[in-house]
Amino acid sequence: MEDRFGHRINYLRVSITDRCNERCLYCMPQELQEWLPRSEILNFDEITRLVRVASGLGVTKIRITGGEPLVRQNVLELFHRLGELTKITDIGISTNGSLLARTVENGETVARALMKCRVRTVNISLDTLDREMYRSITGRDFLPQTLQGIAAAKQAGFERVKLNAVLMRGRNEDGLSDLVRFARAENLLLRFIELMPVTTTDVLTEANFLSVGEARRRLEGEFGPMIPEPEFKTNGPALYYRFAGSLQRVGFIGAMTNLHFCESCNKLRLTCEGKLRPCLGSHLEFDIKTPMRQGATDEDLRRFFCEVVERKPEQHDFRYNYQPGRRMVAIGG
Ligand code: SAM
Ligand code: SF4
Repeated sequence: MEDRFGHRINYLRVSITDRCNERCLYCMPQELQEWLPRSEILNFDEITRLVRVASGLGVTKIRITGGEPLVRQNVLELFHRLGELTKITDIGISTNGSLLARTVENGETVARALMKCRVRTVNISLDTLDREMYRSITGRDFLPQTLQGIAAAKQAGFERVKLNAVLMRGRNEDGLSDLVRFARAENLLLRFIELMPVTTTDVLTEANFLSVGEARRRLEGEFGPMIPEPEFKTNGPALYYRFAGSLQRVGFIGAMTNLHFCESCNKLRLTCEGKLRPCLGSHLEFDIKTPMRQGATDEDLRRFFCEVVERKPEQHDFRYNYQPGRRMVAIGG
């Protein structure tokens, strides 16, 4: 699938739940915590079918997200089914990490069970290494569990484990170098993400915003110059830099300040309640669940996907498209 601007769409980001065991300030508005009714959420058959249809249109990579995907009941069964779709060659998961070290019936960790379902990459959110700050950002005292989750992910044998930290002035800004040191010691790829205005929470203000440029300058002040590595790419829009004299790379996702952010976009999103969203930073969403539940054929669904891709905007519109009430936790970051 290709959009009007020549973006080739081969990556589907699939949110499988709006629920979460954490309450991050920038993601889940404290005032709005009603979960969607179960009947509104796509079931495993529906998710697997839509991913299969997308794979027939050239989607080869999927990333399962949420909410917290690992709180969904029997989630390993879904991964097992997705793992059987042979045209999907790259499966990833985004998680807060707190449940990865849990054990399943046969005694192995959730991380290991995911790896066995063909999951290749795991992105774990970690904004700070300070336990009290972690609690104040996420609303939960889960730093120890998350660190255990990171260790379990490292042991499980994934192709790549990445850490994602959202930048927030006045919150984690003084702990950025600790995260860099941690990533270096653990040999993990760390990325810093700019705060995006996607939900209603009052943390999403200019005053709390810290740009990737400023974060980089701060790190350079501590660790020395960082050298851009434009050839190094993962699946997303991160720009990578390497510290001079070190092999450690750090990524920067400048959704708000990088003017070229959208140029290499290859993504489409499926929300947990069955809406196809061509761009995270635009309010356009198209309900594919209703026609599917009304008996659409695979051919109808294929046409639906192509029509949505046709409507993909050239670039995001975060600054003008802020939608009160539309929660990141339901869209799937
Ligand atoms: N629960 C999982 C997690 O926390 O990684 C997956 C879902 S979460 C919505 C996916 C990513 O979106 C996380 O890295 C999170 O930090 C990021 N995120 C959520 N709200 C954001 C916001 N307003 N601005 C920037 N990143 C955000
Ligand atoms: Fe939950 Fe992830 Fe959102 Fe935090 S960022 S509230 S862990 S879905």
